[in-house]
Amino acid sequence: MMSARTTGFIRRSISLALLATLVEVTGCIADDELDGPLGEAQESIAAVTPSLWGCTSVDATVFTHVFAGRAVSCGVGVYCAVGSGQQIGTVLTIGDVRVSQTNPGYYVAGSCLGPTSFQWPLAGANGSAWVINNYVDLDTDPGDLRDYAGGQKTYDGHQGEDICIASFRTMDKGIPVLAAASGTVIETHDGEFDRNTSCTGNANYVKVRHANGSEAWYWHMRNGSVAVSTGAHVNAGTKLGEVGSSGCSTDPHLHFEVHEYNGTLLDPFRDNMFASPPAYSASVHLLDVAMMLGHVSDAAAKSPGMNANLLNIGAQFSTVMYTGNGLAGQTLAVQIMGPNGKQWNRSADITLTGTERQRRFRWWWTLGNTRGDYVVRFLVNGSVAKTLTFTAG
Ligand SMILES: [Zn+2]
Repeated sequence: MMSARTTGFIRRSISLALLATLVEVTGCIADDELDGPLGEAQESIAAVTPSLWGCTSVDATVFTHVFAGRAVSCGVGVYCAVGSGQQIGTVLTIGDVRVSQTNPGYYVAGSCLGPTSFQWPLAGANGSAWVINNYVDLDTDPGDLRDYAGGQKTYDGHQGEDICIASFRTMDKGIPVLAAASGTVIETHDGEFDRNTSCTGNANYVKVRHANGSEAWYWHMRNGSVAVSTGAHVNAGTKLGEVGSSGCSTDPHLHFEVHEYNGTLLDPFRDNMFASPPAYSASVHLLDVAMMLGHVSDAAAKSPGMNANLLNIGAQFSTVMYTGNGLAGQTLAVQIMGPNGKQWNRSADITLTGTERQRRFRWWWTLGNTRGDYVVRFLVNGSVAKTLTFTAG
């Protein structure tokens, strides 16, 4: 009796230890409570080519467990794929699956597209090349806003990340949209007008399905820029197209949206999917500055064209700062130095509140009758961040 109890205890301990190890390695749960013959077999398939799964790296230990007659369940933010027999590379079922004895499968998880495996879909740095204007709205109540950090950097019902660039002038340079993770292109659309400043028309877009069945949607691309075709395999970093403002879009930006294999919306920030997630709260940066003739509207400032650098005396002109982020108490201002090297004019400081995302700040000026060369100093916290020059004649 004592011996049987001891044996049972030992078996139970081993079983729990194995399960605990599996959970730790994969982040998934193998549910052996379900009925049906378990018939678990061990089989090494470490020779699997990682790229067939779209994996960026593979922990070989993950591949040593083969389950038959077991269910494998994967929750939101956990990444699983199940394949069958020798058809390595063919994902048969994703998510909650039952691998039958007649169709023994293997189970791949964790290191393939696991948490922190996405790279950022635009090149450059937060605040200098782009800024996140809206996160996913995690509050499902109509009219209520809540982003992943508990703030309100979103709009009602928003399902992705809006990553904005400075202006249409920046867009015209061709800003590449990069695949955040490897996968297969499952849908594309191109040919739509790309300078929208309101919610209208259809977007140019690319959808990529990852090996774990999740999908990343890249929206609002520039007309004619979609660079991949349905069925193509892409690696993380592959250029998919360029940032645009097609479809329901007020400014050139990338809308990046991720869904689980079953369609459940994911929040890449809440679900810790980026290898290097940009900071939520960051110091103000200048995305760009512009100098334009006339007293321009905000709509005009979205598409500044070449900076004006020749002005008639007495001319009206505008200076624009395109900013990203901001911390409470930080200041912005414009100082213009005259031909004599002394200050000709200076704006009052604008004090930020810390809730800023992408912003445009405009100042209107009327030139006097002093001819010569002027320097426009764009000031951040009282220091010169950028300069432009113009000649009055
Ligand atoms: Zn969006």
